[in-house]
Amino acid sequence: MGIKVYNTLTRQKEEFKPLRDGEVRMYVCGPTVYDYTHLGHARTYIAFDVIRRYLEHRGYTVLMVMNFTDIDDKIIRRANETGEDPKELAERFLRYFLEDMAALKVKPADVYPRVTEHIGDIIDFVKKLQEKGYAYEGSDGVYFEVRKFRDYGKLSKVKLEDLVKGARVEPGEGKKNPEDFALWKKAKPGEPKWSSPWGEGRPGWHIECSTMSTKYLGESFDIHGGGSDLIFPHHENEIAQSEACTGHEWVHYWLHTGFLMVNGEKMSKSLGNFITIREMLKRYNPEVIRLFVLQRHYRSPLDYTEEGIEHAKNNLERLYNTLENIRVAMEKAEISFRWGNEEFEAYKAVRNAREEFYRAMDDDFNTAEALKAVFEVSNAVNRYLTRVKAPKESILRKAWEFFRAVSDVFGIFEDYFREKKAGEAEALIKLLIEVRAQLRKERNFALADRIRAELRQLGIQLEDTPQGTVWKKVKV
Ligand code: AMP
Ligand code: ZN
Repeated sequence: MGIKVYNTLTRQKEEFKPLRDGEVRMYVCGPTVYDYTHLGHARTYIAFDVIRRYLEHRGYTVLMVMNFTDIDDKIIRRANETGEDPKELAERFLRYFLEDMAALKVKPADVYPRVTEHIGDIIDFVKKLQEKGYAYEGSDGVYFEVRKFRDYGKLSKVKLEDLVKGARVEPGEGKKNPEDFALWKKAKPGEPKWSSPWGEGRPGWHIECSTMSTKYLGESFDIHGGGSDLIFPHHENEIAQSEACTGHEWVHYWLHTGFLMVNGEKMSKSLGNFITIREMLKRYNPEVIRLFVLQRHYRSPLDYTEEGIEHAKNNLERLYNTLENIRVAMEKAEISFRWGNEEFEAYKAVRNAREEFYRAMDDDFNTAEALKAVFEVSNAVNRYLTRVKAPKESILRKAWEFFRAVSDVFGIFEDYFREKKAGEAEALIKLLIEVRAQLRKERNFALADRIRAELRQLGIQLEDTPQGTVWKKVKV
């Protein structure tokens, strides 16, 4: 039994088998950086974070790439409104995004390719499509000719006839057919631009993801994800570009998250019904937000309500309370020389719930079901602790190890399980490093060397590296 994932491409749950043994290559569409990150984004990025964490937990090496759209119509429009330089505006919101993700304990991607740093790669990709006859130059840009790509519509199930019916070429647009989309946009006065074989301009939106995912993950890779609003046209167009270019299958599993909803509508920047992560974090612990998201399966819509968040908060408090109960009990717990009924019962409850947790996560990353198993363990261990006078270490350890696995996968209970360097000692060592650096500047090498030597005696080794002085613990 292995992991099963729901593939939007086939509309079915399929057995998960990466193209290379032991390695999963995964691309998630990143944000267009012109505003603060909101809870809807958090829903999607926390969901993919947990999918990535689970794959790592199950022993895969995951290579994860997420792009930043740092040049785009929306960025230019917003910059014009605020009078800011589009580049600076994008840079600012990109940094805020990274801060917000770190605050939410979303593990960083291995690479965050930015459009503005891959213009050359994008131009090469467009040139290839032109050489292969899938792209043509119009008066205002280069376009992808959709009707030349025979598989168009395979992801979203849209039909070319319907697309053609519903659209027309607007006056001033340089495309041949209404369904064609831009690969390269020629610059209008005052817009940011780069030179290209088609004159000065900038890339279209879809081409960046085809180009940058292929650059880092190869011509075929395992998982491509995003919110379900991206299925059409974004991901459909990405498939057309990539498969037209290589002539073979590009992405094996397409995963899409359901929307975070507010009063029956998608939370979005354009509707103005959003709550930023910054606002949320003023009121709630980041783990509350994670638990709120994980209480639903990633493909289901998730309603944002105060009660929903409060519910997550109470649940998290309950689980922390259990962890604290286990920790305190472990300090006095006994080695087992015999088990009674209570031990057999508690052991069985933990074992079954653990199995249930993995079964749920294997079933298309069903965090909502997996969470039920977490509460079963919590209830079982609390029941055990109220029933026995002298709790056995082995039972508590089983529960503790289960919670450690949950922490690893869900990214919660971090304070309990993260390895910490002792806080105060760390601060003192940092201070000594600074003092030593100052002494060296003043050419007082004797005292500087003495600090280093005496720290070494205490088992702390200072090393001068290109990144500055770092310290390590040494045993011998
Ligand atoms: P954006 O930068 O707004 O285009 O969105 C970046 C990512 O967040 C995309 O994968 C979107 O699908 C996702 N996203 C935006 N709003 C929501 C929402 N309300 N619920 C879930 N995902 C969302
Ligand atoms: Zn994309």
